[in-house]
Amino acid sequence: MADVSAECNIKVLCRFRPLNQSEIIRGDKFIPSFQADDTVSIAGKSYVFDRVFPTNTTQEQVYNTCAKQIVKDVLGGYNGTIFAYGQTSSGKTHTMEGKLHDPHGMGIIPRIAEDIFNHIFAMDENLEFHIKVSYFEIYMDKIRDLLDVTKTNLAVHEDKHRVPYVKGCTERFVSCPEEVMDVIDEGKANRHVAVTNMNEHSSRSHSIFLINIKQEHVETEQKLCGKLYLVDLAGSEKVSKTGAEGAVLEEAKNINKSLSSLGNVISALAEGNKTHVPYRDSKMTRILQDSLGGNCRTTMFICCSPSSYNDQETKSTLMFGQRAKTIRNKASVNLELTAEQWKKKYEKEKEKNKVMKETVQRLEAEPLSCCTGTRDAQTTAAFPEP
Ligand code: ADP
Ligand code: MG
Repeated sequence: MADVSAECNIKVLCRFRPLNQSEIIRGDKFIPSFQADDTVSIAGKSYVFDRVFPTNTTQEQVYNTCAKQIVKDVLGGYNGTIFAYGQTSSGKTHTMEGKLHDPHGMGIIPRIAEDIFNHIFAMDENLEFHIKVSYFEIYMDKIRDLLDVTKTNLAVHEDKHRVPYVKGCTERFVSCPEEVMDVIDEGKANRHVAVTNMNEHSSRSHSIFLINIKQEHVETEQKLCGKLYLVDLAGSEKVSKTGAEGAVLEEAKNINKSLSSLGNVISALAEGNKTHVPYRDSKMTRILQDSLGGNCRTTMFICCSPSSYNDQETKSTLMFGQRAKTIRNKASVNLELTAEQWKKKYEKEKEKNKVMKETVQRLEAEPLSCCTGTRDAQTTAAFPEP
């Protein structure tokens, strides 16, 4: 199924939000200083990323600089993932979703929905597209389908290429950006209904929007497919800061567990240890196995608060991003062979098989004569003819 493959590092982009009203009222200091377009310094220490976005960066600039290319990649048959990592209230949801129905305020997901269809309309008309989307969240290591509230604990299975996927998760076919937006609205409404405190819930769960694109050339029957995972992670803050107790504390620990699994996976990969990567420690890392060190083009947004009050969390987020930057993925085009190509491949294999059979036959014959020769020589040496 794989064709051309190329190694590439995970792209890490850092975005700082502005100070919010309560931080300003409290008199918090604005701690980052930005240099060039890829460096941020905090307390004299510099952190370099593929790109650093200062607080006044617009949603459109963020999208054009880094997410737009992913749409092209996925339509070219690559897998893609965009993560948003950071403490609660650092701007993850603002970056991934933003104000969903506002042309200026909308974030990456609604822009991708529009862009995919713009590209498709401009592509070869002999290409037929099948686009389906899924929307689920992972809370306390349980996968909940946001498009079917009855599915509250979905399992992770592996497909025939050993790639993990969420089994039984609802898939909706979509044929225009509006339909994608309807699915997002539906999922978000379901999420609100199921929980009592949405703010708390969203800071403790990971939400994953999956876009699956299959295309087929009607004449050549050439098939390409690409999966795009859009992941808004749970808040990365340490439990102690939330002041949680009892059941809430247990829950927070569990959430932190899946984030620490993510951290462990990233550390193992960053150290170049590809044989013992603990993907299986959490459902989230299992589902996103290909996004971290596998067949995928991955971008990670690390979202930061600029306030002196959050400086410790901000530093640990920046360190996390630095480790993630060293991970290398090996992305390949997901190409399915056409009937004609399978036939050619079959004929080629048959021919190879024939040549190999002939070689085996020849080799089977050869040692016999060679051994015979040796035996003859030995026999002659041991029993020289008079
Ligand atoms: P998170 O999802 O990380 O918990 P949010 O995305 O909900 O955080 O952001 C918290 C608040 O800050 C929201 O009101 C959001 O609109 C605002 N915000 C976040 N990032 C930015 C930004 N880059 N520019 C302006 N406002 C932002
Ligand atoms: Mg959020």
